[in-house]
Amino acid sequence: MSRLHVDPDAFRHLAGRVVDLSADYIAGLDAARAYPETSGEQTEKLFHTPLPRKGMGARAFDDLAAVLGHVRAPGPRMLGYVLGAGEPIAAIADLFASVVNQNVTAWRSSPASVTIERTVVEWLAEAVGCAGFSGSLTGGGSPANLMGLAMAREAKAPANEEGARPAVVYASEQVHMSISKAVALLGLGRKQLRLVPTDDQFRMRPDELSRAIRRDIAAGEKPMAVVASAGTVNTGAIDPMAEIADIAGEHGLWMHVDGAYGLLAAMAVPEKFAGVSKADSLSLDPHKWLHQPLDCGCLLFRDPAIARATFSDSGDYVRSHDAGPVEGFCFFDESMELSRRSRGLKLWLSLRYHGLDAFRAAIEDDLEHAKRLAALVTAEESLELLAPVELSAVCFRHVGAGEGAAGDALNAAILKRVNERGRVYLSNAKIRGQFALRACFVNHRTTAGDVPVVVEEVIEAASQVR
Ligand SMILES: *Cc1c(COP(=O)(O)O)cnc(C)c1O
Repeated sequence: MSRLHVDPDAFRHLAGRVVDLSADYIAGLDAARAYPETSGEQTEKLFHTPLPRKGMGARAFDDLAAVLGHVRAPGPRMLGYVLGAGEPIAAIADLFASVVNQNVTAWRSSPASVTIERTVVEWLAEAVGCAGFSGSLTGGGSPANLMGLAMAREAKAPANEEGARPAVVYASEQVHMSISKAVALLGLGRKQLRLVPTDDQFRMRPDELSRAIRRDIAAGEKPMAVVASAGTVNTGAIDPMAEIADIAGEHGLWMHVDGAYGLLAAMAVPEKFAGVSKADSLSLDPHKWLHQPLDCGCLLFRDPAIARATFSDSGDYVRSHDAGPVEGFCFFDESMELSRRSRGLKLWLSLRYHGLDAFRAAIEDDLEHAKRLAALVTAEESLELLAPVELSAVCFRHVGAGEGAAGDALNAAILKRVNERGRVYLSNAKIRGQFALRACFVNHRTTAGDVPVVVEEVIEAASQVR
């Protein structure tokens, strides 16, 4: 018998220990610090240990408790970045998915898992108002954006055979860094990314987009794609997608929507996302506003034939499709990935357990929390709201040191102090050149009672650092 053999009873016992530890952890999240008291020295000492040549057996599990003491807890007042807290039913599915260990490459490799993933992708498309789109689950919004722009390139400036030629991509000046990374990785060159000015609500200005495209055409450049942000990472601004789609159509450009932060909110406030179904491709992130444990992103596209032209290596997909659209289906012909874990299983289990309406309600709660925080900030003399609250990101600052470098330094010090205090965790953004404190509600554990804590903590921290 292999020395790696684990007796089923030992598995039951060890997994039970982990489940117990996890359940206790979840039970303690409300009281847990939002940021651990730790240091690089401590984590090195605890975890940077020599390679174990001999097995430790069950003792290896003993240090899992130490891990919990040095992580940023997914508790109710974790409001930094754009990150869900991890929904426990989906976590159970992740364990199951790892045990069943399917390689979700093609129907013939994993009939159930491929069918489940194709189904949940269809559900997601329907939930955000893009019924009929297909796609695949990814490691996050970044790979989904990369694949969306790879499709744009193959559709508008084919490069798979001859190599990339210069072509221009347009996005607002608020666009997420994953887009500029994708433009670089695709060999288009960052200089070919035009950052279109935004209006007073940080939305792309369609007139400026048209002007930039015309300027490039006149200069002999090749416009290729426009990326609309459906929820910018800084302030949650939503670009005017219907108008952008018209402009893209007029000039024959691919339209990709970066919805990694915001698009799932189309379940709750569809009117804010008018025009989204006119896109050619879209990214969204179930590990953000659908509360799935990391990782789970999603790429959706209108035309699978373009996905196959982009990602199939040799045209062999024609042959595999001879087996029919179900049994001949291959994710590897429509994705840059080959071996892939079953990300669909967690979505499938947690959507079936809770129902879509529960997820919609959680998003509605987050939108409410953000409005409430914005109102509290506005009412508080020492604080100033820095951007309109379109979705659930609230950017604000303490005004105690005025504007400019002194104001930025005060707010940076406040942020550091707030996070050290450990009651809430915030992140930051740069808004019109100013350092902003940023709270983003995409956390199903946050309650209305947690919202005032943000203001309390910022004011308390300010009194400590000034
Ligand atoms: C988070 C985010 C991304 C990147 O997604 P990852 O899942 O972190 O790779 C891209 N765009 C926006 C607007 C985001 O908020």
